[in-house]
Order: sequence, then C-alpha cells, then structure tokens
Amino acid sequence: MQTEMQSMDRITADVCVVGGGMAGLAAAVTAVRQGVKVALVQDRPVLGGNASGEIRVHISGADAHGKRPFCRETGILEELRLENSFRNPQREYPVWDLLLYEFASREPNLRLLLNAACVGARMDGPRIRAALVEQPVNWRRFEVEATTFVDCSGDGRLAFEAGANCRRGREARSEYGEPGAPETADDCGMGASIVYQTRDMGRPVEFTPPPWAMDFKKTGLPPHRRPMPDEMSGYWWVETGGTRHPTHDGAEVHRELLAIALGVFDYVKNSGEYPEAANLALAWIGQLPGRRSGLRFLGDHVLRQQDLQERPEFPDRVAYGGWPMDRHPPSGFFSPEPPADYLEVPDIYSIPLGSLYSRNIENLYLAGRCHSATYTAHGSTRVMGTGISMGQAVGMAAAVGIQRGAAPRGVRESQVREVQQRLLKEDALIIGVQNEDPHDLARAAKVTASGKESEALAPANVTNGVSRPREGAMNMWAGARGRTAGEWIELSWAGARTIAEARLTFDTNLEPEFAFSIFPYVRHRMQAPVPATVADYRIEARDGDLWRTLVHVTGNYQRHRVHKFGPVRTDALRAAFEKTNGADQVRLYELRAYAPRAER
Ligand SMILES: Cc1cc2nc3c(=O)[nH]c(=O)nc-3n(C[C@H](O)[C@H](O)[C@H](O)COP(=O)(O)OP(=O)(O)OC[C@H]3O[C@@H](n4cnc5c(N)ncnc54)[C@H](O)[C@@H]3O)c2cc1C
Repeated sequence: MQTEMQSMDRITADVCVVGGGMAGLAAAVTAVRQGVKVALVQDRPVLGGNASGEIRVHISGADAHGKRPFCRETGILEELRLENSFRNPQREYPVWDLLLYEFASREPNLRLLLNAACVGARMDGPRIRAALVEQPVNWRRFEVEATTFVDCSGDGRLAFEAGANCRRGREARSEYGEPGAPETADDCGMGASIVYQTRDMGRPVEFTPPPWAMDFKKTGLPPHRRPMPDEMSGYWWVETGGTRHPTHDGAEVHRELLAIALGVFDYVKNSGEYPEAANLALAWIGQLPGRRSGLRFLGDHVLRQQDLQERPEFPDRVAYGGWPMDRHPPSGFFSPEPPADYLEVPDIYSIPLGSLYSRNIENLYLAGRCHSATYTAHGSTRVMGTGISMGQAVGMAAAVGIQRGAAPRGVRESQVREVQQRLLKEDALIIGVQNEDPHDLARAAKVTASGKESEALAPANVTNGVSRPREGAMNMWAGARGRTAGEWIELSWAGARTIAEARLTFDTNLEPEFAFSIFPYVRHRMQAPVPATVADYRIEARDGDLWRTLVHVTGNYQRHRVHKFGPVRTDALRAAFEKTNGADQVRLYELRAYAPRAER
C-alpha cells in the first residue's frame, strides 16, 4: 500500500496548464486546437474557477456590463456563452459545469487532470522541467513534464514554487507613477467572497440562522451595503480577508464569510425591512471563497494604470480589457467606505505579451489573476472576460513557441505577429490589428454576393480584415432585407485554387451584455440562437457550370464556424444561405478560405 502511495506517474505534454479556471481553460483549449499536446491540471472537480457552479461569479469583461457595445470577447468565450445559452435554457450552474467539462474533455490531445493540485516544481536552473501534482482522491501523484508551462491558478502556485519573481499588496504611487495608487505601499489586497442564491417557495418560510452567524438585526448592516429587494441573490460585497495572507488564512476567511453571509440573509429575512422576502428560502450558498487578489508575478512588462488609461498599442499586444479599475477596501465588508471604487478607462485597452510571462522563469506564461500588473491595473484586468482573453493569448503563444522552438521571451521578440494573426483567425480581437494572414486565400479573391442592404454593408467587408463593428464601420456584409433563402456570397479567383477549409464569422449581436449569472436581471439578457445568426447554410465549390456542396449545416447558433473538407480544385467558393434564426436578412462578418495544410 505504501509503495503504491509513493509511486509517481509521469505525464508528458508540450504545454502544461496549471489551474482550470476560465483563463486556464481558454489557454488549454486554444493551445490544443493548434495541434500541440496539453495537460490541464485543476485542483477541484469542476472547471471554471470563480465562474464555476462552486463559486458562481458571472464573467465580466471589456464591454463593462454592456456599457461598451460591440467590445465583448469573441473566440473561446463567445463560443462557450452561445453553447451555454442554447444548451442550458434552464440556466442552471451544474449544467454549465458539465459544459465546461465537455469543452475540455472532447479534445483528444488534452489530458485533463481533475482533483489534481500542483504542489511543486522540478526545476533545471531557470526552467521548469515538471509540475509536481497530487491527486489525493485517487491516492496518486504525477510529474507533468512539459516544454512550456502556463500558470492560470489564480494564486500562482506553480509560479511561486518555481521561484518566479512576485509581489503582493498595493504599490506606492511613486513606484510606477500611478496617480490612483496609495501614497505608501502595503501588503493589503482585496478580500474573498461567497455568494448565495434564494428560491421563492410560494408561501412564507422562516429562516433560523446558525448560532455562529453574525447578527446585524440590532446594529444594521455597515454603510453602503444594502441588499436590493429586486435581486435576492447575494452579494459580492460580503467580502473579507484583504488584510490577511491571500492563501494561508483561507480557512479563517471561509469561516468569517459564512458568518457574514448568513448574517446578511438573516437580516433580509428577520429584520422586518424586507417584507417582500417572506417567501424566500436559501437555495444554495458557496462553500469555497472566491478570491480576488493574491500574488502577482512580474513579467518583462508590468501593466500600470497609465497603460489602461492612455491605451498604447503595444507592438506585442495579444489581449485586451475594458473593465474599470475596480478596487475594494482591504477591510471589505467592515469598511466604512463604499465596497468598491472605480477608476474609469476611456475605451478598451491592449495587454502586451510582455505582461503574460515570468521575467525570471524562462518557460512560464501567466494568465488570469496572477499575471504581471500593479494592484491598481489589476482592479480591471482581474475580471474573467479579460482573463479569458489573456488565456487565449498565452495558449496561442505557447503553441507557436512549441512549433517554432521559442520560449516566451523569444516568442515576444520574433513571433508576435504570427501569434496575433493566429489569434484573429480563431476569432479573438486585438486592438488595431487586422487579418493579414498570407495563407487566407479570400484576401486575394473577388467578392460578389446576391445583393446587399447598402454600400456600408457591402460584400467586400467579409475580407476587410475586421470582424465586428469598430470605429463607426460595421465591417459586415448584410444581404437584402426580406430575403434569406437563396442568398449567397462568393469568393472567386482568376485561376483554380486548392481549398480544404472555410471559416465563417456570423453575427451574434455583440451589442448587449451576454453573461450567465446568478442575478436574474443579468442572465435574462442571454439569448441563443440569436435571430441575426444564420442557421442553415451550405459551402459550395464551382465545378464547371455546377455548384458542388462541400458542407451542409443546419441549426447553427455559433458565431465562428470552421469547416474542413477534402481538398477541391476550384476557381470559386461560395456560402449559400437557407435560413436565419429569425432575422429577415443574412449577415456575415468574415469569410476565409485555406489550402490544405501541407500546401500552405
Ligand atoms: C464575489 C466575487 C465577485 C467578482 N465579480 C466579478 C465579476 O462580476 N466579473 C468578473 O469577471 N470577475 C469578478 N470577480 C473576479 C474574478 O472572479 C477573479 O479575478 C477570477 O477568478 C480570475 O480568474 P482566474 O481564472 O485567474 O482565477 P480562478 O477563477 O481563481 O481560477 C483558478 C483555478 O485554478 C485552480 N487552482 C488553484 N490552485 C491550483 C493548484 N495549485 N493546482 C491546480 N489548480 C489550481 C482553482 O481551482 C481554479 O479553478 C469577482 C470575484 C469574486 C470573489
């Protein structure tokens, strides 16, 4: 028995991602889809981190709750949101958890290790050779050997064990010249929270708090913290731990959060202030505190407040954000200050690759909560939509690095353009970067269509390199109003080309917020299928006077579709449309065409 306990299984991968939160999932899936072998190590039974059914924080991002229309993160996040919206009409968290599991487990080259915690690193000088992993539920230990590692664990356990330079707390204003930073540095961060959900029982129900719950019925709740009667799920401001150690004091923080959360619900039920809560019963309460801050690891660039407000277009930009710098007082719930203060960002801003890898560990990328940023900038970059944008970026950079033989710094120096172009190809947004993929045959094609709504929505927009509304331009082809069946758009060339892949980017209405949430007023905006999205279509190749069908799709609700087919020699390829999900017009942002991989 003892021998079995001590046996160590060896797993080898090109890329090992530690942490299966939203950033880690995005990194792992992006990398594996580029053809490299990936191991994803997640210490809990479900994926999604703070966005999972275990913690239930909704994913916010650059669109700042829909205040910045058309800025939503496309690529992995849009794909997941549409999938969840369509396949989880009951809007239940366990179904979302299952979907995230399916998303990772359907990739044959992704080795998913659940209930498996990274607890150490085997080093070779400044390089990580293996992540040391324990899976206590199965009495197993693993060494995950890889060329490249990605720490998306939020707390940064792998990076810490590897000896990556890091810091915690708030920087002094003088350190990075940030006007919003405090005068003096300290060790404080933001606290952790647990939230709960209630159910309307249709009849009055009593709530008896446990004896250890805090009692606010006589004292009232601290200032600026008021449950809202129209959203009986609560409450991100039930927050504590910002003055403690971000990981070592987790058990105390958990106990205190439960006592506060149940005290708040007791207040809602029993203070007499909320008669509308009479029928509400506690349906779910988190048992894992969701963390906001902790260690931040230092890259070649440390993202600062000025980077977010002045919005330089870093040459190595690979991700983006747009949430305000949302900082909470370290004493959290018990602070006399409002629970958050916001430093606005004027528009979406770029995140450089230089802030997404360790400056002293040669083969370590960082994404999500533990990337390289000041405390002030982190107030914005810590949100999960931005974490997914970073995850996607480092997943791509890791894959490019494996394929080109480059470590993170080398990728930044020599392969950033390729990383950017491959990210755009997977439907990510990089501010100010357009499709210039030399392999995309559509860029050299003549584009014609059955019709158009207006000059601004002309067919040529599908190859203009941008696939969402930006700076006043729609960047979309829209067919004539009132027609869907029989509409088509065509790419043609002077001579025959060999084509084996087509990519289409449809309209899923990027204007409003689109988030799964415990808050009914947020999740009610979820929609899939989106009426504007094309449902049924064919990809056809010209064969003499005929059009030969290569692909026939029905019931589509996704924005980005990739179709691979047996190579065809043709001088024209077209998408022929049959039906939308309700709109009276066909809309398409982008159409790409590729030769077989061997011929590129
Ligand atoms: C109550 C609350 C409200 C918030 N509100 C919002 C909001 O509205 N919108 C928003 O977008 N963000 C919000 N945030 C912030 C956001 O949730 C976090 O910053 C976020 O979790 C960052 O994502 P991540 O993927 O980096 O980390 P996490 O979500 O923490 O994911 C890290 C993952 O790594 C795993 N892990 C950790 N250590 C190890 C290890 N040693 N080995 C293996 N796996 C490991 C964890 O299990 C986890 O799944 C909120 C946070 C809280 C707590």
